[in-house]
Amino acid sequence: TPGFLTGKRGLIMGLANNRSIAWGIAKALHESGAELAFTFQGESLEKRVRPLAQELGALVAGHCDVTDPASLDAVFDVLAKTWGTIDFVVHCVAFSDKDQLTGRYVETTAENFSNTLLISCYSFTAVAQRAEKLMPNGGSMLTLTYYGAEKWMPHYNVMGIAKAALEASVLYLAADLGEKNIRVNAISAGPIKTLAASGIGDFRYILKWNEYNAPLRRTVTIEEVGESAAFLVSPMARGITGEILHVDAGYHVVGMKNPAAPDI
Ligand code: NAD
Repeated sequence: TPGFLTGKRGLIMGLANNRSIAWGIAKALHESGAELAFTFQGESLEKRVRPLAQELGALVAGHCDVTDPASLDAVFDVLAKTWGTIDFVVHCVAFSDKDQLTGRYVETTAENFSNTLLISCYSFTAVAQRAEKLMPNGGSMLTLTYYGAEKWMPHYNVMGIAKAALEASVLYLAADLGEKNIRVNAISAGPIKTLAASGIGDFRYILKWNEYNAPLRRTVTIEEVGESAAFLVSPMARGITGEILHVDAGYHVVGMKNPAAPDI
């Protein structure tokens, strides 16, 4: 619906290219009237992010590596100086060593475990700490998760543990920030072919499996995730917090393979 985010401003983190879920969300929020700011991780992604920002008239708030608190502070300083306050922040950031997104979870090293949890889980809390200060009139925080937090998925491994912790942090942040009228939610998206997803073993098989077995008999697009995100950050969702909303063509209700589905 055009216009339901008119006058709202916020930050979208985790834009890598035009296949990113962050891009689907950015387009939907922009179409609904929101004013956007983006971060990029390093120079190589800056080249991708700047033209995309220009396309939507978005502010580029600078480089941000969530493992570097100074770079997070710098981004929120830019927002404070440019806008003063924000209405939403969308966190689409995750990372794990590709070598450990295949085979057995039990092999995970302490170093990769900490790094994966720091980037894919703690960073949302680090962002919430800073965003809270720019939301004196309330606001909305959103992160992206996956069904691998709830059920075992092949190759998802330590990222499943990180997403489970991320989903738990949504509940705790929602309770902490609720009295300030700041809502905290997550979208649990079905599998989508993005840069991050290409690191997961057998990803094409996972896509096909979802396509054949999800109630809607297909996978979801970044545009569909984007429109659900626009709803969640908008006043239409003002009664919703601490929610994990599945945008997955219904896959999360499925208990076993559909016997009518073809073999993959
Ligand atoms: P993507 O590769 O387009 O985006 C991942 C982003 O994370 C990139 O922009 C990257 O720069 C950023 N990032 C990684 N490490 C970072 C760091 N240290 N500091 C700052 N940024 C960092 O892939 P995507 O699939 O659009 O991923 C976005 C989110 O959606 C992730 O949380 C992912 O787990 C989640 N998700 C993806 C799927 C899927 O199938 N693609 C499904 C459910 C949830």
